[in-house]
This record gives sequence, structure tokens and C-alpha cells, in this order.
Amino acid sequence: MSKRDYYEVLGVGRDASDRDIKKAYKRLAMKYHPDRNAGDAAAEEKFKELKEAYEVLSDSQKKGAYDQYGHAAFEQGQGGFGGAGGADFGDIFGDVFGDIFGGGGGRRRGPQRGADLRYNMELTLEEAVKGVKKEIKIPSWEHCNTCDGTGAKKGTKPETCGTCHGSGQVQMRQGFFAVQQTCPTCKGSGKIIKDPCGDCHGQGRKQTTKTLSVSIPAGVDSGDRIRLAGEGEAGETGAPAGDLYVQVHVAEHPIFVRDGNNLYCEVPISFTQAALGGEIEVPTLDGRVKLKITEETQTGRMFRMRGKGVKSVRGGAVGDLLCKVVVETPVKLNARQKELLEELEESMGGKTHRPKATGFFDGVKKFFDDLSS
Ligand SMILES: [Zn+2]
Ligand SMILES: [Zn+2]
Repeated sequence: MSKRDYYEVLGVGRDASDRDIKKAYKRLAMKYHPDRNAGDAAAEEKFKELKEAYEVLSDSQKKGAYDQYGHAAFEQGQGGFGGAGGADFGDIFGDVFGDIFGGGGGRRRGPQRGADLRYNMELTLEEAVKGVKKEIKIPSWEHCNTCDGTGAKKGTKPETCGTCHGSGQVQMRQGFFAVQQTCPTCKGSGKIIKDPCGDCHGQGRKQTTKTLSVSIPAGVDSGDRIRLAGEGEAGETGAPAGDLYVQVHVAEHPIFVRDGNNLYCEVPISFTQAALGGEIEVPTLDGRVKLKITEETQTGRMFRMRGKGVKSVRGGAVGDLLCKVVVETPVKLNARQKELLEELEESMGGKTHRPKATGFFDGVKKFFDDLSS
């Protein structure tokens, strides 16, 4: 199922302010909250979708990644963020609605683990089968060494936020309700940076491009993922980095088609070779091998060459190479050659030399006999 655009989910434009995003979320979350729509699966889905969209668009770092890479930025998020899978209504919702709906509320979020990244890598069949080392460039956040990730200018330290006294949360009154909200002064971090680090503008990390050398093991196939632990985005101060997933896609090969550990190819042979038999050369991924064509070979026959296929990255036996021979009808014959063929046809006289035709015409005869009896 393709995911809806997060902005579309919240019904706001791409240029919406943090405030607009929060407002839209509040309005829709009220409408679709499970407490108000008990047993309504569609509403629950909507609510989960909303929560996920808001988790991303309300976090400047995640929002940045989303604006740049779309859903791919968080693909298969192994803990990148929780919204997609389980029905976890805690967390974010607690921030805004905790007291209204009598939920636990006020649960303080710890430092966020860095987002997972996905890199799509296209390989040739040869590279996938034999393994390859590739250099890739990925956009990434890196730990700021100037401030050692604190975000504060060298020689200074972040101070405890005076508004929330370091808890990151404040109690607000809205009408009848007491609402626990993320502290507007420190935006939930519990700390205030008076003198931000000039290198990272107080974020504690910097956006860069990093070059990674990735070893693709022999035998991978389309759809395989290689996980590089800790090579995703850097986390917030004190939190671990996300992972990088290299998603393998094997390009179409001009000769071979891979199916599991077997390779398939089609080899054209002349009709004389098919009739008389002979030796032909067939391609393999390592070069060529000789293949003996037995006499009286019909078109479409499959020849199996054991062990000339692929050894899967998951181990097991090496697959086979299956060559399907296709008998070609000769073209652009000159007068002499046509004469020879006519002579050949005459000498064969009738269907004795054509096993398929024999079967076919016998079948046709039986069909008419049966009709008339
Ligand atoms: Zn810094
Ligand atoms: Zn605060």
C-alpha cells in the first residue's frame, strides 16, 4: 500500500508553519481519536496515519529529511519511529491531550535515536553474483565535534530551562482542562542554549555528505537489504545513530535471467546442428562453456549445466545454468541453397522424419474418425 503524503494527511500545505501543523493535528486527532470512535477501524487507521504524520512534521530534523526524501527517509524504520506498526497511542498524544482523555500524559520523551536511512543500489547481475565493493555518498547528520554535541559554544554549557525547570513539559489551562504541553521555551529539551555553537547553530550535529565503502557479499539478489548499523543519521545528544539500509536492485541482464539460484538463457542453433547434433559454445557468467547438442534436438529443449548457476548469499548448493535451444529457420537463401533444401524435402518424402507432425496428423485423423463413427 502506498503511503499518503504527510502534509496531505494533515490537510496543510507544504509551507505550513509549526503552529498550523499542530493546529491541524489537534483538530483531526480530536475527530479520529479512538476514545471517540470505539470500534471504528477506519477511524483508528486515520488516527494512526495522523499520529505518524505529526511525529515527522513536528520534528524539525525528521521534517527536513521528509521534505528532502519523502517516505524513503524512514523506510522500514527499525525503531526510527513507532507510528507505522503498533497502535501505540502514548507519547506524542500524551503531550497534547493527556489530561483531556485521562491518558497517562506527560511522559517525557528521551533523546531521539537517529533516523534510519535507505540507499537504493543498482547492481549488474555479475556484481550481485560475485560480490562487489562500492563507494556510496549519503547525506547525513554528523556529531558536531566543536561543541561535542551539546550545541553550546565552546567553553559554555547548556543551562537548565527556567520555564519548565528541565522537565521539558509545562501545565497549561485551556478552558476547563489542564493540558500538559511541551515547554515552549526549550521545545521539550529541558535545556536552554544561550550561546549557540557557531558550527552547528546549536543543533549539536551538522548536515554533511559522507562516503561509505560498502561490501556487497556474493550471491545477493533484488530485494535483499544490507544493514549498516549506526551509519544512519546521528541521534540527538546521548542517543544512538540510526542504521543505513542498502537496498539491492539487480538490473536486467542482456543474456541471463536469474530465478533463485538458477540462471536461464536462450541459445539459437541452426536447424542442421539440431538435426545432426554438435558442440556449441554457451555463455556463462565466467566466460564460455561447451555444450553438446545431441542429434535430433527439437526447438525449445532445455539443457541443464550443473553448478553453472549462482551461489546464494544464504549458502546452499550452487544453482544450474539452463539453456533453452531455439532452432532457427534459415533466411536469405540463394537459389542453390533452396534447391538443396527442396532436394532434401523430396528425399524425406512424407512425415516419417517429423515426430511432432506424425503425432499431430494422427491426432487429427482420430478426431475425424471419432466424429464420423
Ligand atoms: Zn556544535
Ligand atoms: Zn523548558
